Amino acid sequence: MSRVFALAVLSLFFGMLIFGCAGQRGSGSLPPIPVPPATISLPAAPGAPAAASAANCADYSVESCPSSCVVCPPCAECSSISCNSAEFCRSIGFESGWYEGIRQNLAASTGASAGSLYALHAPQYATLGGKPTLFYEIYLANRSMDGAKKLEVLDGNRVLMALDEAELNSSVRVPSGGINDYAIYMWVPLAEGEKPPLISHKLYFEGGKALEGAKIGINYAAPIVISPPVYGDNWLAAEAPVNTNHHRKGLFAVTAIAPTPVVGQRYAIDWMLYGQNGKLYRTNGMANEDWWNYGEEIHAVADGVIMEAHDGIPSNEVGVEPKPVTLLYVAGNNVVQKIGNGSAYALYAHMIPGSLRVKIGDKVKKGDVLGLLGNTGNSGAPHLHFHLDTSMDVLFGEGVPYVMDYQYLGNTDWKAQMEDDAVWNVPSSAPVPMGSGMPVDGDIVSLARP
Ligand SMILES: [Zn+2]
Repeated sequence: MSRVFALAVLSLFFGMLIFGCAGQRGSGSLPPIPVPPATISLPAAPGAPAAASAANCADYSVESCPSSCVVCPPCAECSSISCNSAEFCRSIGFESGWYEGIRQNLAASTGASAGSLYALHAPQYATLGGKPTLFYEIYLANRSMDGAKKLEVLDGNRVLMALDEAELNSSVRVPSGGINDYAIYMWVPLAEGEKPPLISHKLYFEGGKALEGAKIGINYAAPIVISPPVYGDNWLAAEAPVNTNHHRKGLFAVTAIAPTPVVGQRYAIDWMLYGQNGKLYRTNGMANEDWWNYGEEIHAVADGVIMEAHDGIPSNEVGVEPKPVTLLYVAGNNVVQKIGNGSAYALYAHMIPGSLRVKIGDKVKKGDVLGLLGNTGNSGAPHLHFHLDTSMDVLFGEGVPYVMDYQYLGNTDWKAQMEDDAVWNVPSSAPVPMGSGMPVDGDIVSLARP
């Protein structure tokens, strides 16, 4: 791969095109949309340009979306579903009235008064990269974060973790995309065996003022045990759990009935494959077929029922941005599977057109082949986007953790490596059995056939 091409592909990676891959399937599964009041003035994003013609709304990011344009669905750092014209949003079923309804309902459902810290979902205890971790969000209602200096996570009076000003700044999402309050993305490592029943938070401001709140119990339910969706050695867990990537920060406020923001992709992984040449592709990565993972079989991770099977979306060329990306298109050819009694739903996204082996209503067994890994939908290079969340409408549920058996081979800064067209050397040391857990971003793992 030439450096120029590598950079072009990387810009897509970082531009969320390649891995911005949660989706909404089936026009029938959109939630009820409230009828908008006769006149609604859309909220202007902070610091947004004053005006733009509807024709060029798509040129703006969620964070800079002008007041004349619309973010649909309301979301933040949510990949390519971004700033659009009102006409476009209406064409996929979203009205500007959503914003007003979400603001009102969110205020009512949280009871959060201006300046209070709150949490919407109980953090779930999960083992990430072999370490016990709490991975969740808290919010600051209707008050600026200006002057915030430090955030403490407390177990009673004991400080579990503190974020300094710089760490706090990198963990904060400013209000945008219809989500009014600041969100703070939390990643709290715990010591082995440490299990606080509940935690609270204290936010310190310049001058010594402090806000205390977001007191919430921890969910210690055992994580869902799955088998891997792909099998073999040298699989790269790209964009896997870490506190900064676009899966993590894809915050959506989409449910009309209970419009609390959710992060469906919190535990998503984009699976890619290293070959014997130490790269993700055989020669230059210019064609889908050149990527080692292209055409790999994708397997059901558990027994369950197929709830969605969307086929017929053509393959993307590597590095070519598919536009427009709508909610119906974003996951490409994809399968959604109900796991067990419906405690979670699995999304397998971006498959090769015509490769799906299942249809809606099929009962599948763990290990059954669902389709072949491809490059469709919101994707710039072949990868399998996989995650579990609580809704069969995959943008609309909360991401839930899961564990699978894997062996750790190493960890790589795969983005830098691609930029430099560098090689990942298979380590000479033996693979490390990790037992049952979840890889983190950049881990390279062996995944055994169950
Ligand atoms: Zn993804």
